[in-house]
Amino acid sequence: MSWPQKRQRPAGTGRQSANHNTSGKHFTTNLDPVSLLLGRLEGVIKTGNGWRARCPAHGSKSASLSIAQGDNGTLLLHCFAGCEVHDVLAAVGLEVGDLFVRRDFKTMTPVERSQFLQAALLPKWRAALDVLIHEANVLQIAASRMGDGFALDDEELHRLRISALNIFDAKEVLHAR
Ligand SMILES: [Zn+2]
Repeated sequence: MSWPQKRQRPAGTGRQSANHNTSGKHFTTNLDPVSLLLGRLEGVIKTGNGWRARCPAHGSKSASLSIAQGDNGTLLLHCFAGCEVHDVLAAVGLEVGDLFVRRDFKTMTPVERSQFLQAALLPKWRAALDVLIHEANVLQIAASRMGDGFALDDEELHRLRISALNIFDAKEVLHAR
């Protein structure tokens, strides 16, 4: 079985509406994290306290992905080749929120609620940090050109204004709680 290499969606386009759709289509949100993830992995082996499987992110044939079940059914992933959890999940079309047992928000403890909310925010934070890193490079180049005594032309000044807007947007995302 092979799954398409699905890349992460842009920030802000979550799957919030999936729970409201009750048509006959198959929705992954009805499955518990174990069935959801293990069904998409290859070479799954049961181990003492969890599972091992081939890591879908780096594509090696060894069972380098370790899967364990933590408190409240939450799945914990670790790729021994060093892949990030986001990349492992994206390779099989899942996100960090899929590692958590879907429950009514009202029945969660405060700690579970905060873990759940943080997991939902991680992809947005990551996208915002990518923007900040990119714009930091733009600003660094501009600063070093000015430092060398060059005046910036209109096109470069225009690019700096776009940088300022992008940085503003990224900061908004990072400040949102
Ligand atoms: Zn890996």
